[in-house]
Amino acid sequence: MAADCDVLISGAGPVGATLALALHAQGRGCQLVDAAPQPVQGDDRSLGLTTGSQRLLEGLGVWRHLRGAQPIRSLHISERGRFGRSHIHARDHGLDALGAVVPAQQLHDALAAELAARQIPLQRPAAIARMPLATPEAAPTPASAPCSAPAPAQAPGWRAVWLQQAAEDEAPALRARLVVGADGAQSAVRTALGIPRAVEDYGQVALVTQLDAARDPQGCAYERFDPGGPMAVLPRGGRRVGAIWMLPRRRAEAFAAGPIEDFVAAFQQAFGWRLGRLRAAAPLLRWPLSRVRARRLTGPRALLMGNAASAFHPIAAQGFNLALRDAAALARALGDAPDPGADAVLAAYEASRQADHQHVERLTDGLVKLYTQDLPGLSQLRSLGLYGLEVAAPLQRRLVARSAGLVD
Ligand SMILES: Cc1cc2nc3c(=O)[nH]c(=O)nc-3n(C[C@H](O)[C@H](O)[C@H](O)COP(=O)(O)OP(=O)(O)OC[C@H]3O[C@@H](n4cnc5c(N)ncnc54)[C@H](O)[C@@H]3O)c2cc1C
Repeated sequence: MAADCDVLISGAGPVGATLALALHAQGRGCQLVDAAPQPVQGDDRSLGLTTGSQRLLEGLGVWRHLRGAQPIRSLHISERGRFGRSHIHARDHGLDALGAVVPAQQLHDALAAELAARQIPLQRPAAIARMPLATPEAAPTPASAPCSAPAPAQAPGWRAVWLQQAAEDEAPALRARLVVGADGAQSAVRTALGIPRAVEDYGQVALVTQLDAARDPQGCAYERFDPGGPMAVLPRGGRRVGAIWMLPRRRAEAFAAGPIEDFVAAFQQAFGWRLGRLRAAAPLLRWPLSRVRARRLTGPRALLMGNAASAFHPIAAQGFNLALRDAAALARALGDAPDPGADAVLAAYEASRQADHQHVERLTDGLVKLYTQDLPGLSQLRSLGLYGLEVAAPLQRRLVARSAGLVD
């Protein structure tokens, strides 16, 4: 690893890797470290991406690797046992697609391929042990200095970074003008910065698999609100679909421990027969769900992005889309700034991202409450909401523009 760099990104997951590519495209020097010895394997999720996210990944050369990406031509929203339902077609809004479904594993592989092709340095397994602030001229802060040193008026010029397994008396592995924590919901960078976080356990687990349907969904993505928990069926090409069902922990664990056929039978009963018989086409994977929110996005010469900043319930398929907008905004904010970690640059970035973060939070938390809580009157509201969506053209247009990522 080179001694100094403009930006050190901790975490080479989808967010850290995309940010590295965006910065590299601007000629900004950056490096990555990741604690895992190997890139992710076997991630069978089907990610719903907005048209805005697609454009960003196209611009970074990532999209061309995503051969399994499928356009979402329409969105069908319904609730089991209720009158309300809504079917929104891209063509009715002059659009080719409302977004796209991307196989998550293809995304991981595509990002890794592009990082390698651009020779962006990535060290793994490697994790930051300490990252105190250091003045440009002075010797790096002694090893005993706390990582979360109080912020001076303008943070001194570097963060000196020691990686795990370094000896006590060893010099830092490198100095960085800016450290980005893209190291997931348990972010070590967030801990090092002393940024508090709020955690809410949803008490739910997302069960994910692929199914073969008797009928081709023709690019339709289905969102269905079952009393057991919200579910989605997403086109994966031909009659193959991605399935996700967010269930209370105990029921989800029972499915995960049993034969997949039991899960598929219950899924079929809850989803209905609009695509004919559904058959298992991949193993069942489980993702425990909790809400994580860092109190701040930035600290002196550091910032948080992706799950390290906020992890959301997947009900609205927003987490990665939001983080991609963050990555693009950070790349813009750094521009050709001589010092990418300057307080003014980070403050401007954080201010520019507040409204989008608040919107995604409100949308996701609102949907979780609306569709997973059983309070008097909520089910009527749900039906009205879905029915209203079908008949209220301006509301529909707004939803379409947002889900396609055409407005923030
Ligand atoms: C079931 C499910 C479905 C979803 N569907 C969608 C969707 O349809 N659309 C959407 O937009 N979003 C969706 N999301 C959200 C999306 O998955 C997240 O927003 C995204 O994965 C966040 O990526 P990340 O890189 O921030 O974090 P992660 O994917 O957690 O990656 C973190 C990386 O940091 C590394 N790391 C961990 N600790 C350290 C450390 N100490 N030092 C260095 N490296 C470290 C890890 O090895 C990993 O590589 C979904 C989430 C779930 C759970």
